[in-house]
Amino acid sequence: MTTRCDKCNDTAVWAWHPFGPAEDANCFTTLGSHYRGFPVVKLCDGHKQDIQDGKLVTFKFKGEWYGVNNKEPYDVVSSPF
Ligand SMILES: [Zn+2]
Repeated sequence: MTTRCDKCNDTAVWAWHPFGPAEDANCFTTLGSHYRGFPVVKLCDGHKQDIQDGKLVTFKFKGEWYGVNNKEPYDVVSSPF
């Protein structure tokens, strides 16, 4: 079974950890070797690249919308996107 990106229908290969354990949101592992106990957003290659290119990528977590800013450090910001 293929895991889908949380943002699109492509195959997810990355576990994005926007809320840690790293100090900023530029924290990715491959799916399956992600850190337990931290929220994971499943992403395809393209959406991981978007984040690292500084594009705004939003995601929903516990009913709230979040996004990454487009500067370093990659902070997660909460706002009405
Ligand atoms: Zn995607």
